[in-house]
Amino acid sequence: MTYDVIIIGAGPSGMMAAITAGMRGRRVLLLEKNDVVGKKLAFTGGGRCNLTNSASVDEIINNIPGNGRFLYGALSRWNNKDICDFFEELGLKLKEEDHGRIFPAAEDALTVIAALEKRMAELGVAVACRTEVTKVLSRAGKIMGVRLRTGKVLCAEGIVIATGGKSYSSMGSTGGGYAFAKTLGHTITPLSPGEVPLLSGDSFTGKDQLQGLSLQDVSVSVLGTKGKRIVTHRGDILFTHFGLSGPAVLCASTFALKELEKRRRLSGESAVDADDSSVRQSIPNKKESDIRKIIPVIQIAIDILPDKKEDEIIREIQNYGQSGGEKSLKNGLRGFLPERLLLYFLRELDLDLERQLKTLTSGEAWSLATLCKNFAVDITGSLPLDKAFVTCGGVSLKEIDSKTMESKLVRGLYFCGEVLDLNGHTGGFNLTAAFVTGRIAGESILRV
Ligand SMILES: Cc1cc2nc3c(=O)[nH]c(=O)nc-3n(C[C@H](O)[C@H](O)[C@H](O)COP(=O)(O)OP(=O)(O)OC[C@H]3O[C@@H](n4cnc5c(N)ncnc54)[C@H](O)[C@@H]3O)c2cc1C
Repeated sequence: MTYDVIIIGAGPSGMMAAITAGMRGRRVLLLEKNDVVGKKLAFTGGGRCNLTNSASVDEIINNIPGNGRFLYGALSRWNNKDICDFFEELGLKLKEEDHGRIFPAAEDALTVIAALEKRMAELGVAVACRTEVTKVLSRAGKIMGVRLRTGKVLCAEGIVIATGGKSYSSMGSTGGGYAFAKTLGHTITPLSPGEVPLLSGDSFTGKDQLQGLSLQDVSVSVLGTKGKRIVTHRGDILFTHFGLSGPAVLCASTFALKELEKRRRLSGESAVDADDSSVRQSIPNKKESDIRKIIPVIQIAIDILPDKKEDEIIREIQNYGQSGGEKSLKNGLRGFLPERLLLYFLRELDLDLERQLKTLTSGEAWSLATLCKNFAVDITGSLPLDKAFVTCGGVSLKEIDSKTMESKLVRGLYFCGEVLDLNGHTGGFNLTAAFVTGRIAGESILRV
């Protein structure tokens, strides 16, 4: 059997490209090195698959901080609404949750994969799992085919590289697509973690402090030099044993890491992980504050009560004082903040937990309110790329035609999905980018 199109990688972008090319009557072969298709897709959205977002096209682009504008043309042809229609036509019921996030109604990513597989079977797309591509073959600026790990060569006039990024490599995205692209003359912009939990050595990470505490709907700002707010994201956060996670932190992470890198360049430091014990051992006899001075850190500020002004918070504290002034601080202020956070803040302000609430001075109430509005956390780095939700960087978009997803360097070569230098926030924006670029590549390939 000969094929018109070979697609490398059966993630969301590759499957969408395969279906679209199949709908246009192409003979399509989809190659996947895992033993199943959509391995990463199955884990998305905590296994529920947040497959797109109901936001306007402009908002979608704003939520793809890594080169979202590249998608303007593509989204004007096929967008998030079309993704929903596409899946509903395949019989998949969808539902919308907060922040416009769209999930399958069954809350099961496997239903998304099953719908895609069924459509591929109907269209006669040949799917070969456990089949790894090791080289993409070209001659005189024109695509020829691929070589498999077995040594076998398969020929096709059109090849789509849909191999994903480099995060969660155990799911198959090991970054091989970058090597294929580079060998074919493409530029790969530097890779770094995106939408990634942040590291902090602050005391809240200690045992019996804030580990495991989640807060809903707070606001997280990345602070630049002189405390200037670079970006602010609102949403949920999670305190962990290594630092901070949760949607609002993930959204802020790329900006935090960029700022950290900038500080490191300015201070002449190489990128080191301040929480790495070997780094600490290399700076003997230093207090924590000295280590922080040596290793650049940046700060993020968390506003725990973003809908309240400081004076409102002070009045609220005073109201607690009026109703329970005889009680201790820790009991009298119960309900003002989640209990562990309240105790942590009181200790941070050196306030005796057993003191009577009525003895709290207005200055102390002001300090507590200020801490609620501006809880500053030192950030020293992030978890590694392999633990990031998405890869920042990838195949340079300067070398890709945004109308077709075709390489400007090699005829018949197309790219889609995370292998491209595109990265979005959590909330369904990365899968949107994967589906849309897959659709455009599948639509354009071998057009005549
Ligand atoms: C835990 C987690 C949860 C996420 N949740 C969401 C979410 O809810 N919503 C959202 O929008 N985004 C989410 N993302 C991001 C989203 O999953 C990715 O952006 C998306 O999967 C990228 O799709 P892709 O098709 O480009 O690549 P991938 O899904 O990574 O697929 C690439 C495929 O190519 C295969 N492959 C690679 N190299 C070869 C080769 N040489 N030969 C053959 N096959 C090869 C791989 O095995 C893989 O199956 C999440 C990411 C993670 C890690």
